[in-house]
Amino acid sequence: MPEIIIDLEKCNGCGKCREICPKYVFKKIIFNNDNKKIKYIPKWSDRCLLCTMCIGVCPKKAILIKKKKFTSK
Ligand code: SF4
Ligand code: SF4
Repeated sequence: MPEIIIDLEKCNGCGKCREICPKYVFKKIIFNNDNKKIKYIPKWSDRCLLCTMCIGVCPKKAILIKKKKFTSK
């Protein structure tokens, strides 16, 4: 499962990542205590296909995706 990191300081809440993602990974969140600011979080990152379209569409370069390595224990 990839690790998707969104820099919430950079995110402007435009929602482009959610619109473009074929697997509906992103969820909108509204911060009630901060002028109702809208941000997006990778709530369902287990669905991610690593297509990287969200990275390309983000105007704030706020998305980072790390491919997790599988290790055997
Ligand atoms: S595309 Fe980037 S700036 Fe826009 S909501 Fe997604 S993470 Fe935030
Ligand atoms: S890499 Fe593709 S599938 Fe994964 S979150 Fe971004 S747009 Fe969605």
